[in-house]
This record gives sequence, structure tokens and C-alpha cells, in this order.
Amino acid sequence: MEKTTSINPATEEQIASYERITPEIAKEKVAKANKTHQSWKKTTFAERSKLMNKLADIFEENKEKYAQLATQEMGKTLKQSISEIEKCAKICRYYADNIQELLADKIIKTEAKKSYVTYQPLGVVLAVMPWNFPFYQVIRFAAPAVMTGNTGVLKHASNVQGCAFALEDAFTKAGFPEGVFTNLNINSDAIKAIIEDKNIIGVTLTGSEPAGRSVAKIAGENLKKTVLELGGSDAYIILEDADLEKVTDVATYGRLQNNGQTCIAAKRFIVLEEIYDDFLKMFTQKMAAAKMGEPTNEDTYYGPMARVDLRDELHNQVEKTVKQGGKLILGGKIPNKKGAYYPATILADLKPGMTAFDEELFGPVASVIKAKDENEAIELANNSAFGLGSGVLTGNSERGEKIALQLEAGNSFVNKLVASDPRLPFGGIKNSGYGRELYDFGVKEFVNTKTIWVD
Ligand code: NDP
Repeated sequence: MEKTTSINPATEEQIASYERITPEIAKEKVAKANKTHQSWKKTTFAERSKLMNKLADIFEENKEKYAQLATQEMGKTLKQSISEIEKCAKICRYYADNIQELLADKIIKTEAKKSYVTYQPLGVVLAVMPWNFPFYQVIRFAAPAVMTGNTGVLKHASNVQGCAFALEDAFTKAGFPEGVFTNLNINSDAIKAIIEDKNIIGVTLTGSEPAGRSVAKIAGENLKKTVLELGGSDAYIILEDADLEKVTDVATYGRLQNNGQTCIAAKRFIVLEEIYDDFLKMFTQKMAAAKMGEPTNEDTYYGPMARVDLRDELHNQVEKTVKQGGKLILGGKIPNKKGAYYPATILADLKPGMTAFDEELFGPVASVIKAKDENEAIELANNSAFGLGSGVLTGNSERGEKIALQLEAGNSFVNKLVASDPRLPFGGIKNSGYGRELYDFGVKEFVNTKTIWVD
């Protein structure tokens, strides 16, 4: 029987292995999830909220344990893993408290005696999820899906199966009936058979563009809806009126959080020429001072990347960019030690057409770009195949807002790093995907938006 193995990226040692299930067994689990849906959809919001609050309790009570697991499997610092588990609890509570309002019928006045829109659950949703936030990405889909009355099956990334099983166990411990949330430890080749399964009503995927394209194609052929949250190459425009001390702190954290592996990380820094040299100098000092190391150490700012192959791919992108004329200001060398480590790296004077400008760099590498004025900065920010997040850092919020409105992205933040929040929708445009998660938009992706007319 084929196995998935979890390897600690800080040591390259194997932590655990998990037996894959066959597509046939996976389909049986999907059938069970569908059977459970038939009774689950009849439960009240109050009943579901009670269990969802219990799930939040479980995250809070076990946050150290879950955080250790995430850190061991994918290398993020323990501090950030703990924040991730706390965020999961917050999302559960948000949907437990607000689902009734978010899914309330919408009365629409017509000549009918009564006409309105109501939202009904549809069945089993398949989630294909990545390793970078191994708990949060799953809960972001599962909490709203389950609260609407759908059930969910998870195909998690192969390197974080420990987290996948811990999530399934947490749902069981919270008291959810068997089949409400199920982990499928399958190979990505088996996803096709699952999408084709008549019991699957839709697919949500967070991950790379190729994975998104492949899943969307199969789902399209089977007339199943998809929500895709793919990569990003988020641009932050830094205006000449910005406080450089603050901005460089934001830029350093924005680029290195989660060891540089966040879809909405600040990746391209587009700096107005008046402050370009000063920004670069201060940013370089701060990136150089950030401590890379063992992710469980208190003073570690960033740990290893999630896998050695991902680290090598990132290094290849850095080398290509340098060959194309990009200036390597900091880092750019694979350390001579065990682990998937890559140092904080800065590439400057980048232009469209260079790898680090055009592609997503999923690791601790910052791309710095000079713009002669605000208009050129906006043009450069929008010159991207991606459109997930974007930001403006300025001393003048109103000026920032005017620019934010012109940025081609699903999320544009002024003087703050883009971050998801259950009270606001989250998602992208262009090759960053489509559909929305969180808030009511997320809840309404996989429901029957049903019109009722009564005369
Ligand atoms: P993938 O997109 O390959 O993995 C994400 C999920 O999709 C995993 O569960 C994976 O399974 C599955 N998957 C992979 N290929 C396919 C496929 N053809 N059809 C269906 N499912 C598939 O990410 P990687 O781990 O390979 O990372 C590669 C790059 O993806 C990163 O460098 C980054 O650019 C981007 N990425 C973006 C993320 C985001 O948050 N937007 C998160 C993670 C990665 P399995 O693990 O079994 O292959």
C-alpha cells in the first residue's frame, strides 16, 4: 500500500507515514458523507452552532499540540502556528454566531403575495488544500460549509497528513456526526474519480495555478462548480510620503511571515524613486537582521521552507532573475546545512519580463521595483498575471485609498498587510482564481440560491 510521509523540513527527518486509501475506499467515504448530509441538512442552525463552538474549544484547548504538529510538518515558527490555531477557533465562533444572519432569507418585493430568496445546502463539497496553513486553510472552507448544512471531504497536501487527520479527529471530538468532515488520504491522481463521483457537488481548491487548472478542467467537464484560491504576486506601492521606519518593518514581516510562503505575502515592493535608495538600504538591514533558524526557538523570525524541492525551485527563480539583470542585494545562497532553509533575499531593480517580477516567488525573497511616479507604480502593480492582494503604504490614507481602488486585485489594503478576516470576503481575480471565501460570500458559494414565489 502506498504511503504519504511527513518530513520535518528543519531536519529532513521523517516524522510519520500514513497509508493512502484507494479511490474505491475514498468513494465509499464520499457516499457516507452524502448519507450524513441527508440528516445533517435537517439540523437547526442552533444545533450546528453548538458543535462548531465545541470545535473552537477543542482548537483553543489543544493549540500547543496542533501547533507543534503544523511546525513539524511544514516548518513555520511555533509562534505563528499557535496564531494559526487561534484563528481557526475564531473562524468557528464567527460562523457559529453569525450563520443565521448570513444565510437569512432575502425578501424581495414583487407583485407576488410573497417572494424571496432562500439558501439551501447542496451536498458534499470536496476541498483540495495546501500545506502552507495546514489547519487554517481547511477551516476556512469547512466551518462555513458545515454550518450551511453541507458536508465536506478533504484531500490535503501529502506532506501534512498529520494535520489532516488531527482535523478529522477534532470534528469527531467536537461531536459532529461521522461523515460531516472526512479526510481522504488519496493521491492527487485519484482526485479525478472523486470529482466525477455523483455525490460531489463542487470543489474548492487552494494551491498552485497548475493544480487549479487541472481541477477546474475536470470539474468543468462534470458541470461542478469550483472556487479557486491560487497564488499571488502581491504588489505593495510605497509612496514618497510614507514613514520608512514603519514601512520597512511592515515589508520585512510581510515578506518573511510563514517563512515567505503565503499566497497574500507582500512579494513585489514598488517604490517611488524619491525614496527608493533609502528604502532599499533600511529594508536590507532589517531583512538581514531577521533571524532564520529552528522554528520552535522563541527568537526565530523565520524557519525553513516546507520542502527541499520547493526551496530548490525558489533558488532557481532567483538565479534566473539575476541572469536576466536583476540585482541581488541580499541572500540568494542555499545554506550549507540540513533542512529546507533559504535565507532572506532581496532582488532589486526588477522589470517586467524578469522571472521574479512575472512569477510567484513562494519563499523569503523580496522583489524591489523602482517607479518614477504614482501612475507608473499603479501600472507596474497591475502588470501581473495574478490579482490576489495588493497594498499601498503612505502617510496619506486618502491618497492611498484612491490608489487602492485602481489596483487589479481581490483585496487592496492601505497601510496594513493584506490579511483574511471572516468578517470580510477573501479571494482573487485573474490567475489568482475566482470565487470568494469567508463572510457571506464564502457561505453562499456552495448553496442553492433558491427563488420562492407564492401567490
Ligand atoms: P500544489 O498546488 O501542487 O498543492 C496544493 C494541493 O493540490 C495539494 O493538496 C496537492 O496534493 C494538490 N494537487 C497538486 N497537483 C494537483 C493536480 N494536478 N490536481 C489536483 N490536485 C493537485 O502546491 P505545491 O505544494 O506543489 O506548491 C507549489 C507551488 O504552489 C508553490 O510554490 C506556490 O507557488 C503555490 N502554492 C500556493 C498556495 C496558496 O496559498 N495559494 C499554497 C501552496 C502552494 P499533493 O500534495 O498530494 O501533491
